[in-house]
Amino acid sequence: AKRRGNDNFEWFTSDINEKVERHVLMRHEIQEALKNEQFSLVYQPIFDSNKQITSVEALLRWHHPEQGVISPIEFISLAEHTGQIIPLGRWVFEQVCRDMPELQALGIPTIAVNLSPLQLSRSRFCSDLEVILDTYGVSPEQLVLEITENVLVSELTNASSMLNELHRIGFKIAIDDFGTGYSSLRYLQELPIDILKIDKSFVNDVGEGKKYEGITRAMLAIAQELQLRVVAEGVETEDQLTFLKNHHCLYFQGYLLAKPMPLTNLQSFLQNQSVN
Ligand code: C2E
Ligand code: CA
Ligand code: CA
Ligand code: CA
Repeated sequence: AKRRGNDNFEWFTSDINEKVERHVLMRHEIQEALKNEQFSLVYQPIFDSNKQITSVEALLRWHHPEQGVISPIEFISLAEHTGQIIPLGRWVFEQVCRDMPELQALGIPTIAVNLSPLQLSRSRFCSDLEVILDTYGVSPEQLVLEITENVLVSELTNASSMLNELHRIGFKIAIDDFGTGYSSLRYLQELPIDILKIDKSFVNDVGEGKKYEGITRAMLAIAQELQLRVVAEGVETEDQLTFLKNHHCLYFQGYLLAKPMPLTNLQSFLQNQSVN
């Protein structure tokens, strides 16, 4: 038993070393990747209860020359740590604006963009966005800014003035990963929030007698009371969809309905959908 423990320990430390090395490497590589246009966006549709697309969420992908496609889970937190999330986040926002005419032509009214807390904490953030909107002729009403609930816990006062400014200009504000932030519910009333996105960890565990059924129902009731739109994230089964519909959830996102896809595929997805 002891020997097995040692083996585990060595395996564990070498795993950490590998991780550190990989991070040092990636820091340089993110810079190169921005220069060499290795980033792209995929879009995941968000549906209403009639299976009409009401919005799409822009999700970042990194096409690494050797490692293939790298998930944002692997590089966003590192990019936040090094500050590279600022140019990266700006690239995402600009790319969404560049894609906007095509998305509008497909009849998709709004695009959701993920923001890092670090972006929100910069005083110039709002005016930077306005410059980009002007450049591409995009209106803020066409954009939903998604921020994770965790931001609000630590930086409620800072975040609230920035969110008010963004909302006043016309952006819609969505709370991402709702229910995972251990935060007080007070902010729901105090901040200019339009949309709640119920985290997929809850959605994955709903259905008769499942563990999170009660909490999910309660979250939907709160949202209804406060007249907030709710999007259920990570809907993977018909059972989950049925449960959510039965409890007055009106918007759905997840592999059951559509996976994230490049803009070109979105076009054929919509065509196939209208045929069926
Ligand atoms: P998120 O904002 O919560 O995005 C939803 C994630 O769930 C996406 O992962 C999406 O592909 C995945 N997903 C969608 N439907 C399902 C489903 O039915 N089942 C499961 N298991 N997963 C589903 P992805 O694209 O890997 O992104 C991961 C996270 O990376 C995002 O979580 C977001 O926090 C962050 N991220 C992605 N793009 C950006 C970006 O442009 N900027 C920033 N700051 N963060 C981003
Ligand atoms: Ca999101
Ligand atoms: Ca989420
Ligand atoms: Ca997330």
